[in-house]
Amino acid sequence: MMNIFNTQMKTANNFRLKALVAAIAITSSFSSFAELISSKQVIKDITYLAGDNLKGRASFSPEIEKAADYIAKRFADIGLKPLASNENSSFLQSFTVHQIKPQALAVSLNENNISSENLAIASTMKKLSWQQGNAQTHVIAKDDDMRATLSKLNQSGGQHLVIINTAHAKLFKGYQGYFKRGLTKLSLEHRGAIVMVLSDEANIEKYNVSASAEITQQSLTNVVGVLPGVESPEEVVLYSSHYDHLGTTPDGKQIYNGADDDASGTTAVLNLAQYYQEKGRNKRTLMFSAFTAEEIGGFGSKYFSQQLNPDDVIAMINIEMIGKPSKFGAGTVWMTGMERSNLGALLNEKLVALNTEIYQDPYPEQGLFYRSDNATLARLGVPAHSFSSTQLDKDQHYHQVSDNIASLDLTSMHKVIESLATATQSLVDGEVTPTRVDKEKVRAQGKIY
Ligand SMILES: [Zn+2]
Repeated sequence: MMNIFNTQMKTANNFRLKALVAAIAITSSFSSFAELISSKQVIKDITYLAGDNLKGRASFSPEIEKAADYIAKRFADIGLKPLASNENSSFLQSFTVHQIKPQALAVSLNENNISSENLAIASTMKKLSWQQGNAQTHVIAKDDDMRATLSKLNQSGGQHLVIINTAHAKLFKGYQGYFKRGLTKLSLEHRGAIVMVLSDEANIEKYNVSASAEITQQSLTNVVGVLPGVESPEEVVLYSSHYDHLGTTPDGKQIYNGADDDASGTTAVLNLAQYYQEKGRNKRTLMFSAFTAEEIGGFGSKYFSQQLNPDDVIAMINIEMIGKPSKFGAGTVWMTGMERSNLGALLNEKLVALNTEIYQDPYPEQGLFYRSDNATLARLGVPAHSFSSTQLDKDQHYHQVSDNIASLDLTSMHKVIESLATATQSLVDGEVTPTRVDKEKVRAQGKIY
């Protein structure tokens, strides 16, 4: 699940917990009655994906490729087929993104040079040089909503010079740190820039702005496998997760294992694929996708969504952070954006027999519908939701190095995967078709950052 920075900026809480290093007897915690899905395999998958060897599965790292290979091998062993549209008939769906790293930035306002510590830039342009009239100017006054103003400029695109009152200094620093790392874009079709100046100057008579950036291309890879439908192969039920995470601390000494985020969801995707393959005769086509680059802006799902007709996707079951019991109890799961389609209600019909249900997202204020890969397909009208059990309001391991296997409750996780297998059976059988998400009601992505 991506940081709120990717949707609306917020100062991150920094809980620093020491990683628990414990040899735990995981297997003994599983109950012994008949399993739909092998707990042994579940443990094997998550142990590999969240292992130190993969060094936190950072996008662009060599280790994330090892994770991709593991997932691809599992898909092959299970007996899935590669996506027909994938040129090299492999489970690996590779693509290129542009990385834009800011280089120089100089600004003068009313003939005064501004010190670099009071400057920030988000830009998809290699070079820019503005004098009077080249950019739209905006002043964010003391009582204005800085976050909302920037978000609006980001949505509209174009070239903007924004003077931000020093009352917003703390938030400004947050944005500055975030943008310093550079931007990643799937395409550079929207060239634009927002240059931010922290200053109490409210009258901009003259300005001079020059900036440059280095733009490089890098490769990323989704892993996608298919179980073709025997009756309605053109109708797709998509199970997904993201397999990337945050890598290591800058000194390389500590690893963000991302056991919950989202090795847990990826383990679910692998084992649901195995479950449905073993069951056989799925009427609709089942697609299983492990997305890359979710944590840095959802580029994997974005590229994926352009490789198929979204109208064919009947539902997207995106699985995010299911490794710990939800506030509704061990083994329970909730979904984001439940009110946007009737998918939740349809799935719950199957769960009555198990005496459980899929709950509504208990943290609407966190904007979680927009903080995972489902949002990309929802923008295209797909009933696309994330299924999770995280207690995000108090999860001390979220985006910390302590998000490791020892912090999970694997019995609860296993139960969630089994519930999802049962809940989605009527989708697989083509018995139910959820209503589409209203695209008009899904907030657009920013054009610049
Ligand atoms: Zn995350």
